[in-house]
Amino acid sequence: MKPKILIVGGGYGGLRAAMTLQEGLNVDADVTLISKHDYHYQTTLLHKVAIGTLSARKSRVYFRKILDLNKVHFIKDKILSFEPEKKRVIGNGGAYEYDYLVIALGFKPDDFGIKGVDKYAHKLSSLNAALKLDKEIEYKFKEYCHTKNANDLSIIVCGTGFTGIEFSAELGSRISELCLIGGIPRDVPKITCIGRSERILPMFNQKASALAQKKLEAFGVEVICGGEVQECLEDGVIIKHKGEIKHIKGNTILWSAGVKGNDSVENSCLKNKKGRIEVDAFLRCPQYENIYVVGDCALATSRNAIHAPTAQLAAQMGDYVGKSLIKILNHKEQKEIFAFKHRGTVCSIGHTDGVGIVYKKNISGEIAAFLKNFIENKWLFGIGGIKLVFRKGQFRYRTSN
Ligand SMILES: Cc1cc2nc3c(=O)[nH]c(=O)nc-3n(C[C@H](O)[C@H](O)[C@H](O)COP(=O)(O)OP(=O)(O)OC[C@H]3O[C@@H](n4cnc5c(N)ncnc54)[C@H](O)[C@@H]3O)c2cc1C
Repeated sequence: MKPKILIVGGGYGGLRAAMTLQEGLNVDADVTLISKHDYHYQTTLLHKVAIGTLSARKSRVYFRKILDLNKVHFIKDKILSFEPEKKRVIGNGGAYEYDYLVIALGFKPDDFGIKGVDKYAHKLSSLNAALKLDKEIEYKFKEYCHTKNANDLSIIVCGTGFTGIEFSAELGSRISELCLIGGIPRDVPKITCIGRSERILPMFNQKASALAQKKLEAFGVEVICGGEVQECLEDGVIIKHKGEIKHIKGNTILWSAGVKGNDSVENSCLKNKKGRIEVDAFLRCPQYENIYVVGDCALATSRNAIHAPTAQLAAQMGDYVGKSLIKILNHKEQKEIFAFKHRGTVCSIGHTDGVGIVYKKNISGEIAAFLKNFIENKWLFGIGGIKLVFRKGQFRYRTSN
Protein backbone atom coordinates (compact mmCIF):
# COMPACT_ATOMS: atom_id res chain seq x y z
CA MET A 1 0.00 0.00 0.00
CA LYS A 2 1.37 3.39 -0.97
CA PRO A 3 1.23 5.99 1.79
CA LYS A 4 -1.36 8.67 1.09
CA ILE A 5 -0.52 12.33 1.60
CA LEU A 6 -3.43 14.71 1.32
CA ILE A 7 -2.95 18.48 1.18
CA VAL A 8 -6.07 20.63 1.51
CA GLY A 9 -5.84 24.23 0.29
CA GLY A 10 -3.76 25.40 -2.67
CA GLY A 11 -2.50 28.77 -1.39
CA TYR A 12 1.00 29.72 -0.28
CA GLY A 13 1.27 27.00 2.36
CA GLY A 14 -0.48 24.11 0.60
CA LEU A 15 0.99 24.70 -2.85
CA ARG A 16 4.50 25.06 -1.43
CA ALA A 17 4.11 21.74 0.43
CA ALA A 18 2.90 20.09 -2.80
CA MET A 19 5.77 21.55 -4.86
CA THR A 20 8.38 20.47 -2.30
CA LEU A 21 6.98 16.93 -2.42
CA GLN A 22 6.81 17.04 -6.21
CA GLU A 23 10.44 18.08 -6.44
CA GLY A 24 11.93 16.01 -3.64
CA LEU A 25 9.87 12.88 -2.95
CA ASN A 26 11.94 9.83 -3.89
CA VAL A 27 9.65 7.03 -2.65
CA ASP A 28 6.35 5.76 -4.01
CA ALA A 29 3.48 7.69 -2.45
CA ASP A 30 0.08 9.05 -3.41
CA VAL A 31 0.21 12.84 -3.10
CA THR A 32 -3.07 14.70 -3.64
CA LEU A 33 -3.81 18.41 -3.49
CA ILE A 34 -7.42 19.46 -3.02
CA SER A 35 -8.48 23.07 -3.40
CA LYS A 36 -11.72 24.96 -3.90
CA HIS A 37 -10.71 26.28 -7.33
CA ASP A 38 -8.63 24.71 -10.07
CA TYR A 39 -6.23 27.63 -9.93
CA HIS A 40 -3.86 29.21 -7.44
CA TYR A 41 -3.96 32.95 -6.82
CA GLN A 42 -1.58 35.20 -4.92
CA THR A 43 -3.64 36.40 -1.98
CA THR A 44 -1.12 39.21 -1.49
CA LEU A 45 -2.23 40.72 -4.82
CA LEU A 46 -5.99 40.62 -4.25
CA HIS A 47 -6.12 44.37 -3.56
CA LYS A 48 -4.87 44.97 -7.13
CA VAL A 49 -7.54 42.67 -8.55
CA ALA A 50 -10.17 44.53 -6.50
CA ILE A 51 -9.12 47.84 -8.08
CA GLY A 52 -8.80 46.42 -11.58
CA THR A 53 -5.06 47.00 -11.87
CA LEU A 54 -4.39 43.25 -12.07
CA SER A 55 -6.56 41.28 -14.45
CA ALA A 56 -8.29 38.00 -13.57
CA ARG A 57 -6.34 36.29 -16.36
CA LYS A 58 -2.99 37.35 -14.92
CA SER A 59 -3.91 36.54 -11.36
CA ARG A 60 -4.92 32.89 -12.00
CA VAL A 61 -2.29 30.17 -12.16
CA TYR A 62 -3.94 26.87 -13.09
CA PHE A 63 -2.74 23.95 -11.01
CA ARG A 64 -2.69 21.70 -14.08
CA LYS A 65 -0.02 23.96 -15.58
CA ILE A 66 2.37 23.94 -12.66
CA LEU A 67 1.87 20.52 -11.07
CA ASP A 68 3.41 17.37 -12.49
CA LEU A 69 0.20 15.37 -12.41
CA ASN A 70 2.15 12.09 -12.43
CA LYS A 71 3.53 13.07 -9.04
CA VAL A 72 0.78 15.19 -7.47
CA HIS A 73 -2.91 14.57 -8.21
CA PHE A 74 -5.20 17.54 -8.14
CA ILE A 75 -8.87 17.50 -7.13
CA LYS A 76 -11.12 20.54 -7.22
CA ASP A 77 -13.40 20.37 -4.21
CA LYS A 78 -14.49 22.32 -1.18
CA ILE A 79 -13.53 20.75 2.12
CA LEU A 80 -16.39 20.74 4.58
CA SER A 81 -15.28 18.69 7.58
CA PHE A 82 -12.63 16.48 9.10
CA GLU A 83 -12.89 12.93 10.47
CA PRO A 84 -9.44 12.43 12.01
CA GLU A 85 -10.33 9.15 13.74
CA LYS A 86 -11.21 7.65 10.35
CA LYS A 87 -8.27 9.45 8.72
CA ARG A 88 -10.43 11.16 6.14
CA VAL A 89 -11.78 14.55 5.19
CA ILE A 90 -15.19 15.23 3.71
CA GLY A 91 -15.70 17.51 0.76
CA ASN A 92 -18.65 18.36 -1.47
CA GLY A 93 -17.52 15.66 -3.89
CA GLY A 94 -16.98 12.86 -1.37
CA ALA A 95 -14.64 11.53 1.31
CA TYR A 96 -10.86 11.55 0.91
CA GLU A 97 -8.64 9.22 2.91
CA TYR A 98 -5.11 9.91 4.03
CA ASP A 99 -2.22 8.65 6.09
CA TYR A 100 -0.81 12.19 6.40
CA LEU A 101 -2.90 15.32 6.14
CA VAL A 102 -1.68 18.88 5.57
CA ILE A 103 -4.28 21.53 6.40
CA ALA A 104 -3.61 24.75 4.47
CA LEU A 105 -7.05 26.27 4.05
CA GLY A 106 -6.03 29.87 4.74
CA PHE A 107 -8.00 32.65 6.40
CA LYS A 108 -11.48 34.08 6.69
CA PRO A 109 -12.27 37.70 7.51
CA ASP A 110 -13.20 38.17 11.16
CA ASP A 111 -16.14 40.52 11.71
CA PHE A 112 -15.79 40.32 15.53
CA GLY A 113 -19.59 40.07 15.67
CA ILE A 114 -20.01 43.70 14.54
CA LYS A 115 -23.50 44.30 13.19
CA GLY A 116 -23.89 44.75 9.44
CA VAL A 117 -20.36 43.67 8.43
CA ASP A 118 -21.54 40.39 6.98
CA LYS A 119 -24.41 42.02 5.10
CA TYR A 120 -22.96 45.27 3.79
CA ALA A 121 -19.19 45.01 3.62
CA HIS A 122 -16.98 43.46 0.95
CA LYS A 123 -14.08 41.28 2.05
CA LEU A 124 -10.92 40.41 0.16
CA SER A 125 -11.19 36.72 0.96
CA SER A 126 -10.82 35.19 -2.51
CA LEU A 127 -10.17 36.06 -6.12
CA ASN A 128 -13.90 36.01 -6.86
CA ALA A 129 -14.60 38.37 -3.96
CA ALA A 130 -11.95 40.77 -5.30
CA LEU A 131 -13.40 40.63 -8.82
CA LYS A 132 -16.87 41.39 -7.44
CA LEU A 133 -15.58 44.48 -5.65
CA ASP A 134 -13.76 45.64 -8.79
CA LYS A 135 -16.99 45.37 -10.81
CA GLU A 136 -18.95 47.31 -8.19
CA ILE A 137 -16.45 50.19 -8.00
CA GLU A 138 -16.16 50.48 -11.77
CA TYR A 139 -19.94 50.31 -12.23
CA LYS A 140 -20.53 53.07 -9.68
CA PHE A 141 -17.98 55.34 -11.33
CA LYS A 142 -19.41 54.72 -14.80
CA GLU A 143 -23.00 55.20 -13.65
CA TYR A 144 -22.30 58.41 -11.75
CA CYS A 145 -23.29 60.51 -14.77
CA HIS A 146 -26.82 59.08 -14.30
CA THR A 147 -27.05 58.67 -10.53
CA LYS A 148 -25.20 61.86 -9.50
CA ASN A 149 -24.95 60.18 -6.11
CA ALA A 150 -21.63 61.25 -4.55
CA ASN A 151 -22.09 58.61 -1.88
CA ASP A 152 -21.61 55.98 -4.59
CA LEU A 153 -18.10 57.32 -5.05
CA SER A 154 -17.31 57.32 -1.38
CA ILE A 155 -15.38 54.20 -0.39
CA ILE A 156 -14.78 53.25 3.20
CA VAL A 157 -11.97 50.90 4.15
CA CYS A 158 -12.18 49.40 7.63
CA GLY A 159 -8.76 48.31 8.80
CA THR A 160 -5.34 49.95 8.70
CA GLY A 161 -3.27 46.78 8.47
CA PHE A 162 -1.68 45.46 5.28
CA THR A 163 -4.85 44.70 3.34
CA GLY A 164 -6.60 47.99 4.14
CA ILE A 165 -3.59 50.18 3.40
CA GLU A 166 -2.55 48.40 0.20
CA PHE A 167 -6.13 48.56 -1.05
CA SER A 168 -6.61 52.26 -0.16
CA ALA A 169 -3.31 53.22 -1.80
CA GLU A 170 -4.01 51.19 -4.94
CA LEU A 171 -7.42 52.85 -5.21
CA GLY A 172 -5.95 56.28 -4.47
CA SER A 173 -3.40 55.82 -7.25
CA ARG A 174 -6.10 54.82 -9.77
CA ILE A 175 -8.82 57.25 -8.85
CA SER A 176 -7.80 59.96 -11.35
CA GLU A 177 -8.09 57.39 -14.15
CA LEU A 178 -11.53 56.30 -12.92
CA CYS A 179 -12.60 59.95 -12.81
CA LEU A 180 -11.34 60.44 -16.35
CA ILE A 181 -13.30 57.41 -17.60
CA GLY A 182 -16.50 58.60 -15.91
CA GLY A 183 -16.02 62.33 -16.58
CA ILE A 184 -16.13 63.01 -12.85
CA PRO A 185 -14.44 65.95 -11.08
CA ARG A 186 -11.54 64.64 -8.98
CA ASP A 187 -12.90 66.18 -5.76
CA VAL A 188 -16.11 64.09 -5.79
CA PRO A 189 -14.76 60.60 -4.89
CA LYS A 190 -13.67 60.03 -1.30
CA ILE A 191 -11.62 57.27 0.29
CA THR A 192 -11.70 56.94 4.06
CA CYS A 193 -9.51 54.43 5.83
CA ILE A 194 -10.47 53.70 9.43
CA GLY A 195 -8.41 51.76 11.97
CA ARG A 196 -8.66 51.04 15.66
CA SER A 197 -4.95 51.33 16.37
CA GLU A 198 -3.26 54.66 17.05
CA ARG A 199 -1.25 54.48 13.82
CA ILE A 200 -1.53 52.67 10.52
CA LEU A 201 0.50 49.50 9.87
CA PRO A 202 1.19 48.90 13.56
CA MET A 203 3.51 45.99 12.68
CA PHE A 204 6.00 48.59 11.37
CA ASN A 205 8.02 51.03 13.44
CA GLN A 206 6.75 54.58 14.05
CA LYS A 207 8.86 56.07 11.25
CA ALA A 208 7.72 53.63 8.55
CA SER A 209 4.08 53.90 9.55
CA ALA A 210 4.18 57.74 9.58
CA LEU A 211 5.76 57.72 6.11
CA ALA A 212 3.13 55.34 4.79
CA GLN A 213 0.37 57.61 6.14
CA LYS A 214 1.94 60.66 4.48
CA LYS A 215 2.09 58.86 1.14
CA LEU A 216 -1.47 57.66 1.51
CA GLU A 217 -2.72 61.16 2.28
CA ALA A 218 -0.93 62.45 -0.80
CA PHE A 219 -3.30 60.21 -2.80
CA GLY A 220 -6.21 61.98 -1.09
CA VAL A 221 -7.03 59.17 1.34
CA GLU A 222 -8.47 60.35 4.65
CA VAL A 223 -6.99 58.29 7.47
CA ILE A 224 -8.83 57.93 10.78
CA CYS A 225 -6.78 56.24 13.49
CA GLY A 226 -8.20 55.27 16.87
CA GLY A 227 -11.65 54.84 15.33
CA GLU A 228 -13.75 51.87 16.40
CA VAL A 229 -16.36 50.63 13.95
CA GLN A 230 -19.64 50.09 15.79
CA GLU A 231 -21.85 49.09 12.88
CA CYS A 232 -21.87 48.79 9.09
CA LEU A 233 -24.87 50.18 7.26
CA GLU A 234 -25.97 50.22 3.64
CA ASP A 235 -24.75 53.82 3.32
CA GLY A 236 -21.69 53.88 5.55
CA VAL A 237 -20.31 52.96 8.94
CA ILE A 238 -20.91 54.17 12.47
CA ILE A 239 -17.66 54.73 14.34
CA LYS A 240 -16.63 55.81 17.79
CA HIS A 241 -13.75 58.24 17.51
CA LYS A 242 -12.26 60.24 20.38
CA GLY A 243 -15.39 59.56 22.45
CA GLU A 244 -17.74 60.78 19.71
CA ILE A 245 -20.12 58.70 17.59
CA LYS A 246 -19.85 59.55 13.89
CA HIS A 247 -21.58 58.34 10.74
CA ILE A 248 -19.04 58.10 7.91
CA LYS A 249 -20.95 58.06 4.66
CA GLY A 250 -20.08 55.75 1.77
CA ASN A 251 -21.90 53.18 -0.34
CA THR A 252 -18.94 50.84 -0.81
CA ILE A 253 -17.35 49.34 2.28
CA LEU A 254 -14.34 47.05 2.48
CA TRP A 255 -13.90 45.09 5.68
CA SER A 256 -10.22 44.34 6.25
CA ALA A 257 -10.05 44.80 9.99
CA GLY A 258 -9.01 41.30 10.96
CA VAL A 259 -8.74 37.69 9.94
CA LYS A 260 -9.26 34.33 11.56
CA GLY A 261 -8.60 30.78 10.39
CA ASN A 262 -10.74 28.84 7.93
CA ASP A 263 -14.36 28.14 8.92
CA SER A 264 -14.18 24.39 8.04
CA VAL A 265 -11.46 24.16 10.70
CA GLU A 266 -13.39 26.39 13.10
CA ASN A 267 -16.46 24.13 12.91
CA SER A 268 -14.49 20.89 13.10
CA CYS A 269 -13.72 18.50 15.95
CA LEU A 270 -10.08 19.65 15.82
CA LYS A 271 -9.23 21.82 18.79
CA ASN A 272 -8.88 25.37 17.47
CA LYS A 273 -9.06 29.05 18.32
CA LYS A 274 -11.23 30.81 15.73
CA GLY A 275 -10.27 28.38 12.99
CA ARG A 276 -6.57 28.30 13.87
CA ILE A 277 -4.93 25.20 15.31
CA GLU A 278 -2.17 25.53 17.87
CA VAL A 279 0.64 23.46 16.38
CA ASP A 280 3.68 21.91 18.04
CA ALA A 281 7.25 22.78 17.08
CA PHE A 282 7.00 20.34 14.12
CA LEU A 283 3.78 22.05 12.91
CA ARG A 284 1.69 19.03 13.89
CA CYS A 285 -1.75 19.12 15.40
CA PRO A 286 -1.15 18.06 19.01
CA GLN A 287 -4.22 15.77 18.98
CA TYR A 288 -3.09 13.86 15.86
CA GLU A 289 0.55 13.48 14.87
CA ASN A 290 -0.30 12.66 11.26
CA ILE A 291 -2.02 16.04 10.78
CA TYR A 292 0.13 19.05 9.87
CA VAL A 293 -1.19 22.60 9.75
CA VAL A 294 0.44 25.44 7.78
CA GLY A 295 -0.25 29.08 6.94
CA ASP A 296 -3.08 31.15 8.35
CA CYS A 297 -4.80 28.08 9.86
CA ALA A 298 -1.78 27.42 12.07
CA LEU A 299 -1.07 29.08 15.37
CA ALA A 300 2.60 28.53 16.11
CA THR A 301 3.50 28.10 19.76
CA SER A 302 7.22 27.49 19.52
CA ARG A 303 9.35 30.60 20.14
CA ASN A 304 11.12 30.38 16.76
CA ALA A 305 7.92 30.40 14.81
CA ILE A 306 5.59 32.91 16.47
CA HIS A 307 4.80 35.63 13.93
CA ALA A 308 1.79 37.38 12.43
CA PRO A 309 0.25 35.29 9.64
CA THR A 310 1.87 36.18 6.32
CA ALA A 311 2.49 34.62 2.94
CA GLN A 312 6.18 34.37 3.80
CA LEU A 313 5.41 32.37 6.93
CA ALA A 314 2.86 30.15 5.11
CA ALA A 315 5.33 29.31 2.32
CA GLN A 316 8.14 28.48 4.76
CA MET A 317 5.77 26.29 6.77
CA GLY A 318 4.64 24.48 3.61
CA ASP A 319 8.22 23.84 2.55
CA TYR A 320 9.16 22.56 6.01
CA VAL A 321 6.19 20.15 6.12
CA GLY A 322 6.97 18.88 2.60
CA LYS A 323 10.55 18.16 3.70
CA SER A 324 9.38 16.55 6.97
CA LEU A 325 7.11 14.19 5.03
CA ILE A 326 9.94 13.24 2.68
CA LYS A 327 12.07 12.35 5.71
CA ILE A 328 9.27 10.36 7.34
CA LEU A 329 8.52 8.38 4.18
CA ASN A 330 12.23 7.59 3.99
CA HIS A 331 11.96 6.21 7.55
CA LYS A 332 14.06 9.03 8.95
CA GLU A 333 13.16 11.08 11.96
CA GLN A 334 12.48 14.82 11.59
CA LYS A 335 14.63 16.21 14.40
CA GLU A 336 14.79 19.81 13.24
CA ILE A 337 11.97 21.97 14.53
CA PHE A 338 10.36 24.65 12.35
CA ALA A 339 12.05 28.06 12.63
CA PHE A 340 10.73 31.09 10.75
CA LYS A 341 13.33 33.15 8.87
CA HIS A 342 11.95 36.68 8.81
CA ARG A 343 13.49 38.50 5.88
CA GLY A 344 11.32 41.58 6.11
CA THR A 345 7.97 42.97 5.09
CA VAL A 346 7.04 45.41 2.35
CA CYS A 347 3.72 47.21 1.99
CA SER A 348 2.93 48.57 -1.46
CA ILE A 349 1.59 52.11 -1.72
CA GLY A 350 0.30 51.98 -5.27
CA HIS A 351 2.28 50.27 -8.01
CA THR A 352 5.47 52.35 -7.89
CA ASP A 353 5.81 53.22 -4.23
CA GLY A 354 5.90 51.44 -0.91
CA VAL A 355 7.34 51.25 2.58
CA GLY A 356 8.90 48.35 4.35
CA ILE A 357 11.47 46.87 6.64
CA VAL A 358 13.93 44.49 5.04
CA TYR A 359 16.65 42.83 7.10
CA LYS A 360 15.79 45.34 9.87
CA LYS A 361 16.36 48.38 7.59
CA ASN A 362 13.61 50.85 6.68
CA ILE A 363 13.06 51.19 2.95
CA SER A 364 10.61 53.26 0.93
CA GLY A 365 9.79 54.61 -2.53
CA GLU A 366 10.72 52.89 -5.79
CA ILE A 367 13.11 50.50 -4.09
CA ALA A 368 10.30 49.24 -1.84
CA ALA A 369 8.01 48.85 -4.86
CA PHE A 370 10.79 47.02 -6.71
CA LEU A 371 11.30 44.66 -3.77
CA LYS A 372 7.57 44.03 -3.47
CA ASN A 373 7.44 43.04 -7.14
CA PHE A 374 10.58 40.97 -6.69
CA ILE A 375 8.97 39.05 -3.80
CA GLU A 376 5.82 38.33 -5.85
CA ASN A 377 7.90 37.27 -8.86
CA LYS A 378 10.16 35.08 -6.72
CA TRP A 379 7.09 33.17 -5.59
CA LEU A 380 6.01 32.67 -9.22
CA PHE A 381 9.52 31.54 -10.12
CA GLY A 382 9.42 28.98 -7.30
CA ILE A 383 6.18 27.43 -8.53
CA GLY A 384 6.48 27.79 -12.30
CA GLY A 385 9.96 28.94 -13.31
CA ILE A 386 10.95 31.93 -15.41
CA LYS A 387 8.18 31.40 -18.00
CA LEU A 388 5.54 31.93 -15.33
CA VAL A 389 7.31 35.10 -14.16
CA PHE A 390 7.16 36.53 -17.67
CA ARG A 391 3.53 35.52 -18.14
CA LYS A 392 2.10 36.54 -14.78
CA GLY A 393 4.77 38.61 -13.05
CA GLN A 394 4.71 42.13 -11.63
CA PHE A 395 6.96 44.64 -13.36
CA ARG A 396 7.63 48.36 -13.14
CA TYR A 397 5.35 49.03 -16.08
CA ARG A 398 1.97 47.44 -16.00
CA THR A 399 0.69 45.40 -18.87
CA SER A 400 -2.58 44.04 -17.53
CA ASN A 401 -4.72 47.15 -17.77
C1 LIG B 1 -5.18 41.84 0.20
C2 LIG B 1 -4.15 41.11 1.02
C3 LIG B 1 -2.83 41.54 1.01
C4 LIG B 1 -1.86 40.84 1.72
N1 LIG B 1 -0.58 41.26 1.64
C5 LIG B 1 0.40 40.54 2.21
C6 LIG B 1 1.75 40.88 2.01
O1 LIG B 1 2.06 41.87 1.35
N2 LIG B 1 2.70 40.09 2.57
C7 LIG B 1 2.38 38.96 3.27
O2 LIG B 1 3.29 38.22 3.68
N3 LIG B 1 1.11 38.61 3.50
C8 LIG B 1 0.10 39.36 2.98
N4 LIG B 1 -1.20 38.98 3.16
C9 LIG B 1 -1.50 37.80 3.98
C10 LIG B 1 -1.25 36.52 3.16
O3 LIG B 1 -1.90 36.60 1.92
C11 LIG B 1 -1.72 35.27 3.92
O4 LIG B 1 -1.06 35.24 5.16
C12 LIG B 1 -1.39 34.00 3.11
O5 LIG B 1 -2.14 33.98 1.92
C13 LIG B 1 -1.68 32.74 3.91
O6 LIG B 1 -1.39 31.63 3.13
P1 LIG B 1 -2.26 30.29 3.29
O7 LIG B 1 -1.64 29.26 2.41
O8 LIG B 1 -2.49 29.98 4.71
O9 LIG B 1 -3.70 30.70 2.71
P2 LIG B 1 -4.14 31.19 1.26
O10 LIG B 1 -3.00 31.68 0.47
O11 LIG B 1 -5.29 32.11 1.49
O12 LIG B 1 -4.67 29.84 0.59
C14 LIG B 1 -5.77 29.11 1.06
C15 LIG B 1 -6.25 28.22 -0.07
O13 LIG B 1 -7.24 27.34 0.42
C16 LIG B 1 -8.35 27.34 -0.47
N5 LIG B 1 -9.53 27.04 0.34
C17 LIG B 1 -10.11 27.81 1.27
N6 LIG B 1 -11.15 27.17 1.83
C18 LIG B 1 -11.22 25.97 1.24
C19 LIG B 1 -12.07 24.85 1.40
N7 LIG B 1 -13.05 24.84 2.31
N8 LIG B 1 -11.85 23.76 0.63
C20 LIG B 1 -10.86 23.75 -0.30
N9 LIG B 1 -10.02 24.77 -0.48
C21 LIG B 1 -10.19 25.87 0.27
C22 LIG B 1 -8.36 28.74 -1.07
O14 LIG B 1 -9.07 28.76 -2.30
C23 LIG B 1 -6.86 29.00 -1.23
O15 LIG B 1 -6.39 28.46 -2.44
C24 LIG B 1 -2.21 39.69 2.48
C25 LIG B 1 -3.55 39.26 2.53
C26 LIG B 1 -4.50 39.95 1.80
C27 LIG B 1 -5.93 39.47 1.82
